Amino acid sequence: MQGKIIKGIAGFYYIYAEDGETYECKAKGIFRKDNQKPLVGDDVQISILDPKEKNGNITAILPRKNSLIRPAVANVDQAMVIFAMESPKPNFLLLDRFLIMMEQQDVPSVICFNKGDLAEPEEQQRLCRIYEDCGYQVIPASIKDGIGVDQIRKVLQDKTTVVAGPSGVGKSSLTNRLQDEICMETGEISRKLKRGRHTTRHSQVIPVGKDTFLVDTPGFSSLYLTDMEEDQLKDYFPEFTRYAQQCRFQGCRHIHEPDCQVKQALEDHKISKLRYEDYLVLYQELKDKRKY
Ligand code: GDP
Ligand code: ZN
Repeated sequence: MQGKIIKGIAGFYYIYAEDGETYECKAKGIFRKDNQKPLVGDDVQISILDPKEKNGNITAILPRKNSLIRPAVANVDQAMVIFAMESPKPNFLLLDRFLIMMEQQDVPSVICFNKGDLAEPEEQQRLCRIYEDCGYQVIPASIKDGIGVDQIRKVLQDKTTVVAGPSGVGKSSLTNRLQDEICMETGEISRKLKRGRHTTRHSQVIPVGKDTFLVDTPGFSSLYLTDMEEDQLKDYFPEFTRYAQQCRFQGCRHIHEPDCQVKQALEDHKISKLRYEDYLVLYQELKDKRKY
């Protein structure tokens, strides 16, 4: 039987199988040879030992589409990062760190600004514009009032999506809502998955529809950029790349160089000052880290 690893705890893997059941499996020695450890998100082949106890063995890992390092999950299509427009106010630097981390791993990001019911329409537009102008899809939502949920569902459809964001922004509210919908269709399974949600500190896959999965990551309050030199940082700001080709110097870092078109675009208000300032902060941070 085929299935997907939805979580891994202490040598056991929990497989959401094609029959809609969850099996507790072990990965036997065959993987040691290939030096390939099963990852949450992996599609696997399992052989069932005891259908009543719902346990078995993983016999093969199917080819991976990709595997992320942070979070350590396989077969991810995209990320959805959720921030609240109010309570708590968005921490842009944290949001930018997350977007960069995903750009670095070639995972496209969608941004959801939640709690629209707490923000004035002008503020909602301002927030969305900042990131839309960078080329990101932005979904304004009020999960409480059911606004934006249809759009979110559409974006998630048939994909595996890492859901991330600081605590208190509405991640559980969204996940529960989507899960309740599938619960109504499939009965028991999701309810069983739900129970474990807050006990784990690891990533966990949550089925929310046919071929549609969320990857629940532990909430983050800080993120540090790694595996990057400060000179590479500019490549992860999609809105810079539009202007960078016209900079006088190849490899322009858009900081002190003359005839820099990114700085020109900043002056012309075509690039967000907020994003550019975060760029400077992160550039300095990476530089300091390399030095010490
Ligand atoms: P998480 O920590 O990101 O999982 O956030 P939760 O889903 O636990 O939500 C945190 C708090 O925000 C809860 O009290 C929710 O009821 C509330 N909340 C979630 N979505 C909304 C929303 O759209 N508007 C408002 N006003 N509150 C919301
Ligand atoms: Zn430049």
